Amino acid sequence: MNGSAGNKFGFTVNRSRLIDYDASDRLVRDYVTLREPSFRLCFACGGCTATCTAGQHAPFNLRRMNTFIRRGEIEPLREEVTRCMLCGKCLLVCPRGVNTRNVVSLAAEAIKKLDRNEL
Ligand code: SF4
Ligand code: SF4
Repeated sequence: MNGSAGNKFGFTVNRSRLIDYDASDRLVRDYVTLREPSFRLCFACGGCTATCTAGQHAPFNLRRMNTFIRRGEIEPLREEVTRCMLCGKCLLVCPRGVNTRNVVSLAAEAIKKLDRNEL
């Protein structure tokens, strides 16, 4: 078998799931964390997601949104923040006392500022 056929063998990382932490945009994460320090306490248990009102009607997942903020994945975050109804139900169940509603509000605010080059 020649070399070109051999190159097709093996595993690759799907580029859409490749997280490059050196190249990630930390502006939104820093904006949120500075103003809502409780965001640091999230340990991704998913309690908020399980109880989320919006998540019962739309493809919204607060735990995933927190991960987007941490990883600096701005594009998927952009749509995610618009789905929260800010009802505050998730606040009642978070075992770490994260002010989740404020996290969503701040993330939405940060994205608007980012778009206006104000971050
Ligand atoms: S319930 Fe609290 S600790 Fe658990 S994933 Fe949601 S924000 Fe994080
Ligand atoms: S405030 Fe947003 S994330 Fe929390 S339960 Fe309500 S809709 Fe879901």
